[in-house]
Amino acid sequence: MSKVKYVFVTGGVTSSLGKGIISASLAKLLQARGFSVTIQKLDPYINVDPGTLNPYEHGECYVTLDGAETDLDLGHYERFLNIPTSQANNVTTGKIYQSVINKERRGDYLGKTVQVIPHITDEIKRRIKCVSLGNKYDIVITEIGGTVGDIESLPYIESVRQLKWEMADEDCLVIHLTLVPYLAASGELKTKPTQHSVKVLLENGIQPDVLVLRTEHSLNDELRRKVALFCNVHESSVIESIDVSTIYEVPVKMLEEKLDVVVLKKLKLQTNGAPELKKWKEFLSRLKNPRCSVNIGLVGKYVELADAYKSIAESFIHAGAENECHVNLEYIHSEELNDENHLEKLASLDGIVVAPGFGSRGIEGKVTAVRYARENNIPFFGICLGMQCAVIEFARNVLGLQGAHSTEMNQKTKHPVIDLMEEQKRIIDKGGTMRLGGYKCIIRENTLSYEAYKTTETVERHRHRYEFNNKYLNEYNSAGMIPAGLNPESGLVEIIEIPSHKWFVGVQFHPEYSSTVVSPHPLFVAFVKACCSKTKTVKKKK
Ligand code: GLN
Repeated sequence: MSKVKYVFVTGGVTSSLGKGIISASLAKLLQARGFSVTIQKLDPYINVDPGTLNPYEHGECYVTLDGAETDLDLGHYERFLNIPTSQANNVTTGKIYQSVINKERRGDYLGKTVQVIPHITDEIKRRIKCVSLGNKYDIVITEIGGTVGDIESLPYIESVRQLKWEMADEDCLVIHLTLVPYLAASGELKTKPTQHSVKVLLENGIQPDVLVLRTEHSLNDELRRKVALFCNVHESSVIESIDVSTIYEVPVKMLEEKLDVVVLKKLKLQTNGAPELKKWKEFLSRLKNPRCSVNIGLVGKYVELADAYKSIAESFIHAGAENECHVNLEYIHSEELNDENHLEKLASLDGIVVAPGFGSRGIEGKVTAVRYARENNIPFFGICLGMQCAVIEFARNVLGLQGAHSTEMNQKTKHPVIDLMEEQKRIIDKGGTMRLGGYKCIIRENTLSYEAYKTTETVERHRHRYEFNNKYLNEYNSAGMIPAGLNPESGLVEIIEIPSHKWFVGVQFHPEYSSTVVSPHPLFVAFVKACCSKTKTVKKKK
């Protein structure tokens, strides 16, 4: 069996240059050439995982099928590669230290002083190699979070240096992503920040093999030569990454720049012809040539930071392209939505999504949005907390259960229509203790969900502690809100629908985590389709 090859992606100059997208784009091109590839993210923060982080801190928390709460870059990896990632694909400093300290307590290092080098670096190297256990992949791309020079990144950079030293030249390479800023006053692109950033890497013992330069303007040959000479790389290894209108264009740009060819040559891997990107290009063409456009409102409380709803926004791009429809996603702050102003904020929408979330801030605005959608036959899609809000709204305004609520928001409510799951009641720790990852859902025939999925069984990813309270199921059923999906083992309600409504679906799971470019999520596709054909029949509220 052939050896696994390792590609490390580091970043310099500033954060947010898009290491995740470059890694995913390279992986896409290699996959499209027939290699099996995965991508791993190493995050230098001390949290064990981002599950307990506020989305304002770090954007969305992504969830893998095997139940890991991870960095949102893993979402990009899956959306690009169309293969699931797992626990092993996201490693944090918190995880590294946790295992080393656990080993120390067990006595595994008995007699030794436990140190950053070699113990922490050994654990980092072990985690890097862990992803490809069983030789599942030809190539593992490991993205190092943060920027070179950061104190907290040092053990990671040192581990990469050691791996480079241990492995044969053709078994691993380092790609360094930097910025070439444009100075408008002098009309020039500047290479000095890149030179400095490479110097920092060199000080840490790493000569990068490939440089990817983020830029707003095209790089000329002279500039490429200058960077190559001063940074000690071949000219063909200086890759331009120019700003593009959609991240999904980046693989095509990287193909034009021959990033895949340079990488394969250095790794001494044979390849013939061009990568197979037919479906990808068809998607791009549909994305860029929509036949119609819809306004969809995303009602949430983290709307100030678009990254907080990254996977939902991307799922709409996939589903929009599938419908040849441009989805204009309007972010609506749930805290600013109330009975007085909701018409002004919601009337122009063709569809409403109520977002996932935690805690009571903004909850009443979400319930208001659900009511408006339900009463006016506006396509509605509730995701996780969004579904729970739909259940609460229905209880209050249709079943007449005054003050109905989730016990997450009001522990003393007389009508706990959403309640803590039984197995959650004894849990005190917050980290990694929700109902996480893939669970089965049996879909009822003759429902909107069945029409979308075209199957009676699916597996969807979860991240919640509260659930539909089955004690109320009969009341809901007879009043016209039905369980369209159930978990076969626990009987938990996974999907609710209102059959008399044009398109009203709430899901306890997170369909947005499993929508990809070549396989858009069926519920997003069906929802956008329903929004496209919305006829405006907005009733005035009495
Ligand atoms: N806060 C709700 C729960 O824990 C919903 C979670 C979510 O929207 N991800 O059940």
